[in-house]
Amino acid sequence: MPPPIKALLFDLDNTLIDREAAFTRFATCFYEDNLSALKSTTREEAVAKMVAWDQDGYSDRGAMFAKWAQEWPEARLDPEKLLTWYRTEMKNHVQRDNDVNALLADLNSHRIPWGIVTNGNTTSQHVACRAAGLDQLAPFVIVSQQAGYRKPDPRIFRDAIDQTGIESPENVMFVGDNPRADIDGAKQFGMKTAWVRRGRQFPDDLQPPDLEIDHVAELRDIVNLFV
Ligand SMILES: [Mg+2]
Repeated sequence: MPPPIKALLFDLDNTLIDREAAFTRFATCFYEDNLSALKSTTREEAVAKMVAWDQDGYSDRGAMFAKWAQEWPEARLDPEKLLTWYRTEMKNHVQRDNDVNALLADLNSHRIPWGIVTNGNTTSQHVACRAAGLDQLAPFVIVSQQAGYRKPDPRIFRDAIDQTGIESPENVMFVGDNPRADIDGAKQFGMKTAWVRRGRQFPDDLQPPDLEIDHVAELRDIVNLFV
């Protein structure tokens, strides 16, 4: 018998919230407001570039906005102003996922320990949680900037497991979309893992996850096993 799963830990972006869709909406609004008059690009092309440079939120924000200014000089963009605007505007494009939130509410009603472990800026990640209705649900949220270390650093997994109150990592499942930061990091730490595919193949050079899913709501089957 494999060790039972007694707690769950979740990545935030592109796991509990569809960050890619949110960023695409954000970039499309930006195009409409600032770039649509330019002859040098189309909406599809500009939005695709912005989404690619975002790297699912993993690229450096300052460098990313400098690239925008460089790419479209006619628009006279100021990278610093873009960063400030991003910090206030991005949350408006985050949408709650009712299927995800229903599953998390069920974890709470069954008293199954769980929490969120996310890499990023403390304020932005808490604001995103609020926008998605997760702040009301999550027993705890660990943000890398506040913790002082980022996934896949084992210390952030240690902190998270401590907060679940479960002693052994093998009884905890980590759910995330980033093969290295989430899945490999959690696996190295001895946890069970569920990878959110998003239409991709898991990298060959890493140990495969225990589970591959398309959406977090699929975990309901797993959860039913231990309630
Ligand atoms: Mg993610």
